[in-house]
Amino acid sequence: MSADQLGSLAIVGIGPGRSDWCLPDVAERIASATDLVGYARYLDLVSIETAARRHRSGNRVEANRSALALDLAADGGRVVVVSSGDPGVFAMASAVVEQLDRWPDRWCGVRFEVLPGITAAQALASRVGAPLGHDFCVISLSDVLKPWELIERRLEAAAGADFVIALYNPASRHRPWQFGRAVELLAGHRDSATPVIVGRDVGRPGEHISVLTLGDLLDAEIDMRTVIIVGSSTTRILPDRPLGASVYTPRSYGLGADPNPTVPSNHATA
Ligand code: SAH
Repeated sequence: MSADQLGSLAIVGIGPGRSDWCLPDVAERIASATDLVGYARYLDLVSIETAARRHRSGNRVEANRSALALDLAADGGRVVVVSSGDPGVFAMASAVVEQLDRWPDRWCGVRFEVLPGITAAQALASRVGAPLGHDFCVISLSDVLKPWELIERRLEAAAGADFVIALYNPASRHRPWQFGRAVELLAGHRDSATPVIVGRDVGRPGEHISVLTLGDLLDAEIDMRTVIIVGSSTTRILPDRPLGASVYTPRSYGLGADPNPTVPSNHATA
C-alpha cells in the first residue's frame, strides 16, 4: 500500500461519561471514524452518532487491541481508539505507543494523534470544590501491571511528601485486600480527620459522591468504578458548604503568599 493510502489513528478520551464532558474534537473524530476500537464498556458509553464499525474487546488485551487499531489504520481506515477519561492516564495511548516503539517499521506512515479528555480525578474534584488546588499525584492501586511492593513504596513516598493523592483502580474482585493495606499505609502518615472524597460513576447515571475522613474510608463501598481523593495536611472541609463547595486544598502553605489579607470588597457591577 502506498503512503497516501495509509489511514489515521486517533487515541481519544471521552471523559468520565457525560456527553457534554467530551471535547468537541473528540466527538467530531468519533462521528467521522470508520472504525472504533476499545474496551466494550467504554464503547457502550459512546453516545455520539457514528456509522463506524465497533471492535469491542476485553479489558486485559491492550496489546492486541493496539495492534488491531494500527493494522486497520495501515489499511486506510480512520481509526479511533476510545478510552474513558483521558487516554494518557492509565489508558490506551501508552499501550499504542508501546507497540510503535516495539515494531518501529511495521506501521510507518500511519498518522497518529492523541486527543485529551477529562480524567476521573478532575471530574470528582470539580464536584466538591477544589481538593486538587495544590500539588497532587495520581496512583493506580492495580498490581496487574506492576508489583504491589512498588505501589506500597509510592504510597509511602507520596503520603510522606504531603501530596494530595488520587487513587485509581482501587479494588476489584481479584484484588480484595490491597485497598485496606493502602489505607493502612496512608493512615501511618495522615491524621484520621484528613478529608477524603469518594466518587462512584462520576458524570454517569447513578453518580454517587461522598465526603468523609481517612478514618472512615475503610467503611466506604469501593470498587473499580470508584475514584478516591485523599487530602493533604492542609486540605479542609468547609463546615457549612457554601454554594456546593465543600472541600479545598489552599494554594499556599501559609508562607505569607496572600498579599491582601482583608475581606474582599463587593465589586460593583455596572
Ligand atoms: N483513563 C481513565 C482512567 C482509567 S483507569 C481516566 O483518565 O479517568 C480506570 C479507573 O479510573 C477506575 O478504576 C476508576 O478508579 C477511575 N474512573 C474512571 N472513570 C471514572 C468515573 N466516571 N467515576 C469514577 N471513577 C472513574
